[in-house]
Amino acid sequence: MVTVDVQHAKCTGCTHCRDVCPVTVFEMNPRETFGDIVDDTSVAAKFQFRAEKSKVIAGADCIMCEACLFECEGECITIVDDEGKVHQSTYK
Ligand code: SF4
Ligand code: SF4
Repeated sequence: MVTVDVQHAKCTGCTHCRDVCPVTVFEMNPRETFGDIVDDTSVAAKFQFRAEKSKVIAGADCIMCEACLFECEGECITIVDDEGKVHQSTYK
């Protein structure tokens, strides 16, 4: 089974993952619903943090199209595929 994870401290809320995913793995939620998250300073130096963050709602549905892996500002998406190989997002 494929698993998808988002490191919320690095998620800028850019919505790119939600917008490009063909199978609705991600949902945007207000940042306060994630608890007391301290935004990552290295990401904040490059991008603005918005009012929402991305939540994985259907990681098992991921078809490994890799679209989100190139669109993630925070470089905070990790996908482990069926063979256990780890794929880390790297912003284009
Ligand atoms: S790699 Fe998976 S989670 Fe990412 S956009 Fe494609 S289907 Fe969605
Ligand atoms: S693409 Fe990355 S930084 Fe942007 S909302 Fe999704 S997880 Fe967060």
